[in-house]
Amino acid sequence: MKKIVWIFIIALIGSFVFVAVNNFLKKEPNPNLEKGYTEEEVAVIETLSEENKNYLLETNYHPNLLEYFAVENMMEEKLINYIQFHETYGLNLNETVYIVNHNYDDLNVYDESTIAFMHGDYYIHEYLNRYLAYQTQLTVSFDSVETMRDYVITAVNSNLDYAFYTQDYAVDLEKNELILVNKYYKLPSDYVPENLVKIEYPYGVSLMLQATVYEQYKLMWEAAKSQGLSLYIRSPYRSYATQNTLYNNYVARDGKAAADTYSARPGYSEHQTGLAFDVTSPTTNFDTFEYSKEFEWLQENAYQYGFILRYPKEKEYITGYMYEPWHYRYVGVDVATKIHETGLTYEEYYAYYVR
Ligand SMILES: [Zn+2]
Repeated sequence: MKKIVWIFIIALIGSFVFVAVNNFLKKEPNPNLEKGYTEEEVAVIETLSEENKNYLLETNYHPNLLEYFAVENMMEEKLINYIQFHETYGLNLNETVYIVNHNYDDLNVYDESTIAFMHGDYYIHEYLNRYLAYQTQLTVSFDSVETMRDYVITAVNSNLDYAFYTQDYAVDLEKNELILVNKYYKLPSDYVPENLVKIEYPYGVSLMLQATVYEQYKLMWEAAKSQGLSLYIRSPYRSYATQNTLYNNYVARDGKAAADTYSARPGYSEHQTGLAFDVTSPTTNFDTFEYSKEFEWLQENAYQYGFILRYPKEKEYITGYMYEPWHYRYVGVDVATKIHETGLTYEEYYAYYVR
């Protein structure tokens, strides 16, 4: 009986002491702790920028705060955007960080289809509505969402959602050797490149190219020659007037539809830029060049001199031209190398990297 009383008294005194000491040591309560954040979260919050700290202080509890910090490519300065985006659309945090980082967070609706497009290699955000519209018009079926998506992106980036010769975008001449001229981008009828020079290099007819292009061609010709090969320029720069005559002759001969598959309408020809030429070997013509050693060599080496095969096989639907093993276009060594590595057409490259 006595023992129990003593234990009771000691416990009572002990708890008084405990409460007193505890009250003495107690600091201001941390508002974030009170909001529901864990000690661990509070420690991380303490390390954040003032802007982030203030935002967290002024807003309600955001669950799983630390999970944002575990996402790949997470940028602390975008934390508020992540939180707001996530809480509005409910997408998972990986998707949230991806979309916010790429500045794709300005839409009203996010569904499976839009998100799939956003993960495409050559996705252009301002084209999203065109992608979605083009997707609904597809009549072919695809083995996966990704295949379909890539097909649509390629098509729309190349303007295939519009018919050829319906847009007449002005060629952006400021882009110099990176200009795009095709069935959507048109040159003025009076456009003549400023720095045309006469080409008289061996195995080339006496016509004109832009100076840089000619210099690079000469280097390429020499390199081919050192391998026992011989390149022969058939057709370099062509004026608007020449193209006009040429095209109209083809139309008279084969009809407009057929002529459009192999000849450009005046103003739409790359030959008017002085950046392109048709080349074969002295012993081959356009029909047989594809089977020559010279063509094989160009396939492997043309990019090192800044040239690309402009109208490749199986890309006819993009370029708007039949396969032309003989038509090369100067874009500079860096761009030609990138195109050689990626296998993009110039239409696709221009849309994503140049435009
Ligand atoms: Zn050509």
